[in-house]
Amino acid sequence: MTTSFYPPQRTLMGPGPSDVNPRVLAALARPTIGHLDPAFIGMMDEVKQMLQYAFKTKSPLTMPISAPGSAGMEACFVNLVEPGDKVIVCQNGVFGGRMKENVERFGATAIMVEDEWGKPVDPAKVEAAFAANTDVKVLAFVHAETSTGVLSDAQTLCQIAQRHDALTIVDTVTSLGGSELDVDGWGIDAVYSGTQKCLSCPPGISPVSFNTRAIEVIEQRASKTPSWFLDQKLVMGYWGGGAKRAYHHTAPVNSLYAFHESLVMLEEEGLENAWARHRHHHHALRDGLEAMGIGFLVEEPYRLPQLNSVFVPEGIDEAQVRQRLLENYSLEIGAGLGALAGKVWRIGLMGAACNKKNVLLCLNALENTLSAMGADINTGKAIAAAEAVYNTN
Ligand SMILES: *Cc1c(COP(=O)(O)O)cnc(C)c1O
Repeated sequence: MTTSFYPPQRTLMGPGPSDVNPRVLAALARPTIGHLDPAFIGMMDEVKQMLQYAFKTKSPLTMPISAPGSAGMEACFVNLVEPGDKVIVCQNGVFGGRMKENVERFGATAIMVEDEWGKPVDPAKVEAAFAANTDVKVLAFVHAETSTGVLSDAQTLCQIAQRHDALTIVDTVTSLGGSELDVDGWGIDAVYSGTQKCLSCPPGISPVSFNTRAIEVIEQRASKTPSWFLDQKLVMGYWGGGAKRAYHHTAPVNSLYAFHESLVMLEEEGLENAWARHRHHHHALRDGLEAMGIGFLVEEPYRLPQLNSVFVPEGIDEAQVRQRLLENYSLEIGAGLGALAGKVWRIGLMGAACNKKNVLLCLNALENTLSAMGADINTGKAIAAAEAVYNTN
């Protein structure tokens, strides 16, 4: 007979999901209630308010979509893009490519602005794309590229779009809660994120927010939104309907308890403190890795603290290292993607996984594993280098 499933206890330092705090897991196990129960509706309102805090927006159209980050991406494109529209899509990694897919599947034209993987989106190229194309409706880009560990300058990119009267769709799946993000301050029109990266909640929910400009565009669509489930006007009947909420779909009740708890924890810590924590532990990890002789893919000013892409030492089978880390230390780190496969690891320091214990565990585990495999690294220096960062702060 099949027996219950008990997952191994891991330390998750990959590109997501990240370690989930026991408080969040405990919330998941609370009794299921009806999704139109007044108590549940009260909790939904708190989730919306806390999400506004996390995104730094006052927009009332801020809510979680009942599906993973990819559905949040699709919700933004399916509602804002219509057949025949022109959309400038910036691609400097995996997720920009998915934006292009969305644009084309909804019958619009994607004008691509490409940058090398490991480099940020170049605002000059975006400026040139606007100069070469009239009537661009939307500029879409990824704030924090998880496939490479690069942060792009969202504020500058949004300013360019505003000068050309275009809307912005911004992917903040990996930046929300980990790097500075100011949705209203930067004038982002449509934004989506995920729960399993720096918010350290189980996967399966995607927070989104639309501002008044975006909502006007949605309301003035010539054609019906081609997705029933993601049609924001219908979703709003449930999430935005005050006491008179209409049934749209059954919300993932327990997942939303968990999400609520992770947002409570973000409020307790303070958004700015969460950003600072990610930077702090990133500095310790960086100094440790560099002391070992391991270098970073991304130039310093564009590095994401929550996602560290580092080069695999020469002659080392990177998959074997990850397998040994999992077997011997129950530690997960990520592999490189696309052209970077086999060349880099992606070490996540996201949310609850971003702490001193994990930084030291990772450095120790990597050093032991690599030196046992005969890699050309400096031994005996990494922990001290990381400790030096902790001792000066
Ligand atoms: C993880 C991720 C997504 C997709 O989120 P899922 O929850 O896996 O669907 C989209 N964009 C970025 C930048 C991501 O890191």
